[in-house]
Amino acid sequence: PVEGLEKVDKYIYKIRKAGNMRVDAIILSDWETLDKEAIEQIKNVATLPGILKAAYAMPDIHWGYGFPIGGVAAFDVEDGIISPGGVGFDINCGVRMLVVKGSSNIVKSNIDTIIKRIYESVPVGVGETSELNFSKNDFKRIVTNGAKEVIKMGFGYDEDLERIEDYGHIQNCDFSDVSEEAIKRGKDELGTLGAGNHFIEIQVVEEVYDEKIAKVFGLGKGDITILIHTGSRGFGHQIATDYIKIMRDNLKEHNKNLPDKQLINAPFNSKWGQMYYSAMNCAANYAFANRQIITHLIRKVFKSVAGLDVKLVYDVAHNIAKIEEYEIDGKKRKVIVHRKGATRAFGPGNPHLPEIFKETGQPVIIPGSMGTASYILAGTKKAEEMTFGSTAHGAGRTLGRREATRELSVERVIRELDKKGVKLLAKSKKGIVEEAPEAYKDVDKVIKVVDELGISLKVAKCVPIGVIKG
Ligand code: 5GP
Ligand code: MN
Ligand code: MN
Repeated sequence: PVEGLEKVDKYIYKIRKAGNMRVDAIILSDWETLDKEAIEQIKNVATLPGILKAAYAMPDIHWGYGFPIGGVAAFDVEDGIISPGGVGFDINCGVRMLVVKGSSNIVKSNIDTIIKRIYESVPVGVGETSELNFSKNDFKRIVTNGAKEVIKMGFGYDEDLERIEDYGHIQNCDFSDVSEEAIKRGKDELGTLGAGNHFIEIQVVEEVYDEKIAKVFGLGKGDITILIHTGSRGFGHQIATDYIKIMRDNLKEHNKNLPDKQLINAPFNSKWGQMYYSAMNCAANYAFANRQIITHLIRKVFKSVAGLDVKLVYDVAHNIAKIEEYEIDGKKRKVIVHRKGATRAFGPGNPHLPEIFKETGQPVIIPGSMGTASYILAGTKKAEEMTFGSTAHGAGRTLGRREATRELSVERVIRELDKKGVKLLAKSKKGIVEEAPEAYKDVDKVIKVVDELGISLKVAKCVPIGVIKG
């Protein structure tokens, strides 16, 4: 039992506001999956100025910097705050799903070559740089215009844009809010995967739960899907680091009563709050462009190895803060929603979605691990009413990186993957154990919770056949 935690309904737990909490904390999970330690962090989030309705935890919740990963919090744009720890260091880390229609046998029989060729063409690993050599001017245009700018340069097609959250472009981004150091780190890493948790995975659609929606998403049983999981590399990391320091140096009085100093923040409607917001949006655009460039490199491999076309299914952000509008106590209000390790899950009819997804809701991509299934779901009205349009973003870690290294062996992880028919290419041995399937919660349980609660609905399940890890 956890102090103050009451069960309100199936998969819904609540901690009533008490002490410094300004709102309740609401935790959506089954009891076994729930990471009890991270509850402390969601209670802390509930103390922050201008928080509306409640602080939310998704079933994949686990310990993070200040805010838990798997957390959602919305703040009033007038009296609320914005916090780098509520977005995460990897700004707009996210997942993109691609599909190859009806050619799974060709892909399966060439999987070794495909994996190897992707591994050779996408730079992988810590601090790995690309050879694309963007000029500073190109870089500025990319981080202010996002995916469409790199599409203009030849990395993809215009029709890709409606299959990216916010069309791959977030406004309110002023390049002058970004430091020289961030530009220096970011420029050469654009078009790279990164390390650790980041991956490219080739999968097969094993099961379809909703034929109609799957068809709209462009998916059918037996299709090959590809997941790309990466974010804004050193660029976003530097922006987060810069603004945490700026807020520490300039907003001492405002931040003096924080329950945890990692919750450092700025009033959203203030000079520093707006500058962080703008720089964060530059990093968000960078990440959309990054996943777009990697898509292009993967398309080239599929074309040259097997003559196959690769289509984009959808691209979601899972570390981001955004201005959105919600009805709260019968009044429409503008809020700044922080989704940290949480996926937007807008439902049918949402005006922010393109025509193609107007009747289905948006695609939601929830990866599991390199040895288990991953899922694609559809966003819902229920999510818009219940969780500020949000759902889970993964299985969520159950073992910390150090624990995983202590408890698991590389050889065993590789052997187990091999038994399951999953080819693995990884840059770092250490990374393999840290990312072992055992290091993550049971994704099937996470999916069961979000699906039964109705904050996103299962559409299809994909199983891995090949993985590239940083
Ligand atoms: P995060 O962004 O929090 O690092 O990771 C998102 C989620 O991706 C994790 O919670 C985990 O469930 C999932 N994940 C991590 N590694 C892999 C992988 O190699 N393959 C797949 N399919 N999912 C993974
Ligand atoms: Mn990331
Ligand atoms: Mn991520």
